[in-house]
Amino acid sequence: MIEIDDLHKQYRSRSGAVAEVLKGISLRVPAGGITAIVGPSGAGKSTLAKCISLLEKPTRGSIRVNGQDLSLLTGEALRRERRAIGTVFQSSALLQRKTVWQNVALPLEYLGVVPHEIKQHVGALLESVGLSDKAARYPAQLSGGQRQRVGIARALALKPSVLLADEATSGLDPDATAAILHLLTQLRDAFGLSIILITHEMDVVRSTADAVAEIRDGRLVQQGRVRDLLAQP
Ligand code: ADP
Ligand code: ADP
Repeated sequence: MIEIDDLHKQYRSRSGAVAEVLKGISLRVPAGGITAIVGPSGAGKSTLAKCISLLEKPTRGSIRVNGQDLSLLTGEALRRERRAIGTVFQSSALLQRKTVWQNVALPLEYLGVVPHEIKQHVGALLESVGLSDKAARYPAQLSGGQRQRVGIARALALKPSVLLADEATSGLDPDATAAILHLLTQLRDAFGLSIILITHEMDVVRSTADAVAEIRDGRLVQQGRVRDLLAQP
């Protein structure tokens, strides 16, 4: 469960001008569900995502994950709690000179996991995203959908309780999009993951999300169950 309360984020430019990008967002993301965050370009979705994944520090307000306020943490505690949240980006941000296997193993190597455990865990992760037969390939030898699967496997390597997907299906064709969404649903069910889907694609929200939150100009304008807010016309 993620509880976001009165979250503000300001950026200060070099000239000293202040831009308030998040203007007091309060939001609940229930455990074990898929919550979509939607809104027009420039609304603040990516900034919110960066605050949730602890890449940006909010100016004010709190984000609690499983009851713990992550903005209060520093050092080792922050590094440990950061693992609770796995992130997948639009371009999946894979290292081009490393194989699929090596890309997925990376977070485990940084953590100092012993080689035979890495081997076992990476094997299981590739199997859970359906890429066991592509382990030796390089990212450039994969389709867009396959690259996103590698990004998902890597995001799951440290067994997070939350998976944050920022425009993870943008730029994929409809079949690849449907396959990624099906995979996310399976992962939610298999691991009890809470999934946050940041997207501008309303079809994705309708087909996959349980709950939806709409952001406009840094403010939450509505939040609720998809079947209540987005009833088919
Ligand atoms: P979205 O993901 O909904 O398109 P963003 O969070 O990327 O929105 O951006 C929201 C607003 O914040 C935009 O007006 C953008 O220009 C501004 N913004 C984002 N990051 C920065 C930054 N590092 N410095 C200043 N302004 C920023
Ligand atoms: P083990 O102690 O053997 O790792 P786990 O039940 O913790 O047993 O995990 C079994 C496998 O399930 C792991 O190797 C991993 O691939 C996968 N797994 C478990 N939890 C998660 C999670 N939250 N996210 C992704 N994969 C997971």
